[in-house]
Amino acid sequence: MKCSKCGNEMVIYKVATKVGTAVGATAGGVTGCAAGAGAGAATGGETGGIIGFCLLGPFGAVAGASFGAIAGGILGALGGGAAGAYTGSKLGEAVDEKIIAKYVCKTCGHEDRD
Ligand SMILES: [Zn+2]
Repeated sequence: MKCSKCGNEMVIYKVATKVGTAVGATAGGVTGCAAGAGAGAATGGETGGIIGFCLLGPFGAVAGASFGAIAGGILGALGGGAAGAYTGSKLGEAVDEKIIAKYVCKTCGHEDRD
């Protein structure tokens, strides 16, 4: 990035750093957590039901499905939350770079947006 006034090199200057990153991480974490919990409960319930049925028959299937859904939901929420927060913070970083960042000329102090 060159200065439009004097043509010298400009440095990136952030007005408010990490705002987009923080917002993105929170939003992504919440969304990922909910999605992960739903997916985990569904797969956990199914797996638990099969295991329960094999061990204890129809009653085991019900107990296994409930336990599997709870365990799967917790694991799914943890995994989904972490994955969502990571993706969200990456998206937020892009927002920080694009919208919040601006450039300042090292020579004349001229400010410019991207
Ligand atoms: Zn300049």
